[in-house]
Amino acid sequence: MAQGSPVYRRILLKLSGEALLGSHQYGIDPAVIRRVASEISETVSLGVQVGLVIGGGNIFRGAGLAEAGMDRVTADHMGMLATVINALAMQDALERLGVTARVMSALQIHEVCEDYIRRRAIRHLEKGRVAIFAAGTGNPFFTTDTAASLRAIEIGADVLIKATKVDGVYSADPFKDPTAVRYRTLSFDQVLTDKLNVMDATAIVMCRDNALPLVVFNLNNPGDLVRIIKGDVLGTSVSNELSRTGT
Ligand code: UDP
Repeated sequence: MAQGSPVYRRILLKLSGEALLGSHQYGIDPAVIRRVASEISETVSLGVQVGLVIGGGNIFRGAGLAEAGMDRVTADHMGMLATVINALAMQDALERLGVTARVMSALQIHEVCEDYIRRRAIRHLEKGRVAIFAAGTGNPFFTTDTAASLRAIEIGADVLIKATKVDGVYSADPFKDPTAVRYRTLSFDQVLTDKLNVMDATAIVMCRDNALPLVVFNLNNPGDLVRIIKGDVLGTSVSNELSRTGT
């Protein structure tokens, strides 16, 4: 276990909606959201400023609804609203632990949450509040991974930390292919040329072009987020400086 002070001042953490499912098929597992909130709380207590982007895949994904015949833009609006539901649940879970949090939405829903305003978001972070960025980018045809890289760059995060259900980035899906190898480090160009399943290409290009480092880790390993914050090398690190190394 890493000792001492955090190596990051400000992070953007990306959670997929699936991360909140736990053993459920749909929606939010209260035990899982509590555990994730407590890890975020521990991160905040180290003095790290935390921005959060949450997906909506546990409720609705636009592409899936469109495949079933729905208009894509309407489907994406539903997906974005799903992320607002998850963001409100996380705000509640954090505040129950005594961590102040603010949901800031890219779509205006004034009775429910604040609008995303960059300067206000930075102010929340400076005051030690978790800023939860909801509704993705506010535009259809984008993903919350792209929203995560966009918000990370806008708020000047030191790193984008993406939570997944495996130990980092693999050469193939480790659940399907037993020969899949895990990478410890990668460059963004390698992710793009090998079409590795990390984030969509738009999100990766945003990180690459703005020199925003990315760490991919397993959210199912309790304590790993805090270990990464304290400088342990876990999961897969992706940046412009690194090249491919396996474990
Ligand atoms: N979405 C969108 N624009 C955005 C972000 C998200 O239209 O900028 C919609 C899209 O329909 C997507 C859904 O919201 O499928 C949920 O987001 P995502 O699939 O990224 O969630 P995750 O896979 O991380 O749970």
